[in-house]
Amino acid sequence: MTRPRDIPSIDRLLQRAGVQALVAEHGRAAVTEALRRSADGYRDLVIETADAADGDPAAFIEADTRRRLDARGTPSLVDVINATGVILHTNLGRAPLARQAADAAAAIASGYSNLEYDLAAGTRGHRHVHAERLLTGLTGAEAALVVNNNAAAALVVLAALAAGREAIVSRGELVEIGGGFRVPDVMAQSGAILREVGTTNRTRVSDYAAAIGERTALILRVHPSNFHMDGFTERAPLKALADLAHRFEVPLVEDLGSGWLGDANAPAVLRDEPTIGASLTAGVDLVTFSGDKLLGGPQSGIVAGRRALVDRVRSHPLMRALRADKITYAALETTLSLWAREPLRKEIPIYRMLTTSVDEIDRRAHALAARLKDMADVQVIDGESTVGGGSAPQSAIPTRLLAVHVEGRSAADLDRRLRAHHPPVVARIQDDRVVLDLRTVAPDDDQTLFSAVEGLKASG
Ligand SMILES: *Cc1c(COP(=O)(O)O)cnc(C)c1O
Repeated sequence: MTRPRDIPSIDRLLQRAGVQALVAEHGRAAVTEALRRSADGYRDLVIETADAADGDPAAFIEADTRRRLDARGTPSLVDVINATGVILHTNLGRAPLARQAADAAAAIASGYSNLEYDLAAGTRGHRHVHAERLLTGLTGAEAALVVNNNAAAALVVLAALAAGREAIVSRGELVEIGGGFRVPDVMAQSGAILREVGTTNRTRVSDYAAAIGERTALILRVHPSNFHMDGFTERAPLKALADLAHRFEVPLVEDLGSGWLGDANAPAVLRDEPTIGASLTAGVDLVTFSGDKLLGGPQSGIVAGRRALVDRVRSHPLMRALRADKITYAALETTLSLWAREPLRKEIPIYRMLTTSVDEIDRRAHALAARLKDMADVQVIDGESTVGGGSAPQSAIPTRLLAVHVEGRSAADLDRRLRAHHPPVVARIQDDRVVLDLRTVAPDDDQTLFSAVEGLKASG
């Protein structure tokens, strides 16, 4: 039986061949620290459970140290399977990239590129030329620029066009989007002065008109995102608001949130989602939107609209702090090029998830249920997927769910065990059952999902 005083000293432990190998890999300081923690842990074990500590203490401590050092070197960011049915799941990284976009990002990331180099002239170029042609082609805007996210886009637009002056906003649009994006707070940071008009539920064109004066820099329209109002409500029609803005020669800026390009195959839930093109056609001078919501690209924010305004935004000093990096440009350009060719849109995971038919999901669900029938009690039931990310807040897309039950285990227990799987599976609990929505699971991951559910029966 081992006693505390039988535990070898750190110096003795460091002489072991296995520990020396760890020193070569991780460095002496890290190994010494890990050895100390492992030895302390072992000492506690010996004291608490006198008979649990049979065997060679040095070998035990060495193995524990190796585990510690290996764990220290593993990234905390890992890929997970999203079986929640929330397509733009903010906590799960929003939009997965198309394979082609991820490949382009990897290629550009691992080498040099013409990020700010004019290859024809052999001189310094500008990063902002990238993605602009594709963005203007797809949206009809005169010019466009890219920053790190839509919050940054809204911030730099307000800073460049309205600092020290007034931005008129409807009280019905002073929303918090989630993740701490509050319209009034972003305005305060930009230096723009908020001029609220209308009421929470009703704002008319005349309310905006009454507020326009010498101090007005712009009119701001904000997509209310995950906030929905019913009943006695009124919102100024966009076209009428644009006409008003132009009569007074102030720009109309719209934070669109999602950046929906519009598509004939889109599900019914997106029928009322405003498109970028429609906003610009109605007369909006500048729109901002996210690159990783309905666009299905990398995290980014896009400003698009009239060239003179885009140029003013581009030359603001904040741009240096908010500019996108080459990996973002690579993934964004490739995503946009897939949008530009209609048959290729289904290569974009977000687009594919939005347009996958219930029949297709039903077929995959039944195939999995059939394979799992001896391992768990799996039923295919009707359910609803959601768009998420602040788009179509009332939305529900019909889907088919795999409802999983394992004798003697609670839904919470199964849910926890799915999250402990490698890769983790994030599911949903509904009516005391764990449900899996294949709409947000890539078909290539069905096999992994099978293994995760198969493993639920094992004890532990
Ligand atoms: C999502 C959203 C934002 C924030 O966009 P990020 O890209 O997450 O910074 C801003 N405004 C609206 C209306 C949104 O829906």
